[in-house]
Amino acid sequence: MPDPAPVMVTGEMADPAAAAYDPWAAVVQRIDDAAALVGLNPDIHRMLRVPKRVLQVSVPVRMDDGHVEVFSGWRIHHDTTRGPAKGGIRFHPLTGAAEVAALAADMTLKTAVVDIPFGGGKGGVRCDPRLLSEGELERLTRRYTFEIASLLGPDSDVPAPDVNTDERVMAWVLDTIDMLHGRSLPGTVTGKPLSVGGMKLHSGATASGVVRCVRAVFAALGMDLVRARVVVQGFGKVGGPLAFLLWSAGMRVVAVADIGGAVHNPGGLDIGLLSDHVAATGSVSGFDGGAAIAAGDLWSVESELVVPAALEGAIDAADAAKLSAKVVVEAANGPTTPDADAVFDERGVTVVPDILANAGGVTASYFEWAQSRQGFAWDEDLVATRLGNTMDTAFEAVWARAQTLRVSMRRAAGALAVQRVADAIAARGLFP
Ligand code: NAD
Repeated sequence: MPDPAPVMVTGEMADPAAAAYDPWAAVVQRIDDAAALVGLNPDIHRMLRVPKRVLQVSVPVRMDDGHVEVFSGWRIHHDTTRGPAKGGIRFHPLTGAAEVAALAADMTLKTAVVDIPFGGGKGGVRCDPRLLSEGELERLTRRYTFEIASLLGPDSDVPAPDVNTDERVMAWVLDTIDMLHGRSLPGTVTGKPLSVGGMKLHSGATASGVVRCVRAVFAALGMDLVRARVVVQGFGKVGGPLAFLLWSAGMRVVAVADIGGAVHNPGGLDIGLLSDHVAATGSVSGFDGGAAIAAGDLWSVESELVVPAALEGAIDAADAAKLSAKVVVEAANGPTTPDADAVFDERGVTVVPDILANAGGVTASYFEWAQSRQGFAWDEDLVATRLGNTMDTAFEAVWARAQTLRVSMRRAAGALAVQRVADAIAARGLFP
């Protein structure tokens, strides 16, 4: 995966991420495979091979020095048959239409795997937030929100945080929508701050769901969790809490990488100290509780489990061939390329796919959305219990289907999801 260059990226139409790896082609390949597995009606198959709605917008922003930069942004709905479009907003210098569309399709499948009443959507702005001041970031967020506002709303499209966006950004999105409509619409956004109707367990929910899947897959494979070695790529909103939870569960987190570098300690890193280091310096790089390793060496570190929690396309076929772990749990969206998947199949590596493994985040978003619409705060224990139950039920359904069909968990999850979406499309019929 190329490192994003620290330059302002504005106004270009080409999709830079798609140059090296085409995420849309990858997701269509997965939909095609699922269609074949379930014997999908060809009409429904054709509908799922294209996004329902693609909105590209220009986002002019007054910069602090007085000039205007024009950024490109997207909001894409892949399918909304099962409910309002649900999916995060990402700010990244390499994002573009193909990536956002692929992530939207992933959301269609993900919401179906955990069986919550949403369709799939995603948003993105091509920018490097590290180069923006707080004021510039807020103006960019508000103008982008205004430009896509015709799509957003509790009954139509409900964004959440994704790469480089957080609850502060969600609060600006919500406020912009409320100002536009002149009323309070808290169900428009999830992952918002507690002070404006957010939910306590939301921020750690993706990581909790990943850990639930790690426990489930280790149990299913008869592997012992305690002292098992794990490699984590990404130490952000998902990877940070996740590494901490895995460490707290007794696993040895032997290597962690982020965009700044990678650290390795065969005996296990102290994730408490590493978190302090990242909080102080912004990166795992320079942490003295382990040795620096090249980013390219991360996947060959001796381990039982690998958890990619950064960006898509992170593990290619060459990486897959040298992976020492026999289990991969995908916390990131689309981290394994299709070629790498084939290598994992040959090598007998068990992959818990993204649309199952990281679905804890969207499940918590569902609870937050329901809470906002009810105007009634859910008890924290209820959220935790329901989140755990939803993840366990989804894991069991995917595992069982993989056994029945004798295919990988990814193919089984795709089949389960596509079948659920197809059932909904068939039940509603074609308009008009
Ligand atoms: P984030 O921006 O908070 O963190 C991203 C992390 O990845 C950072 O530590 C960054 O340094 C690291 N990273 C970026 N490029 C890298 C590279 N080339 N090599 C190594 N590390 C790199 O983002 P996040 O919210 O933690 O999301 C991570 C992944 O999880 C994404 O694929 C996202 O779509 C997915 N995801 C996030 C959520 C959520 O709740 N935030 C939910 C489901 C899925």
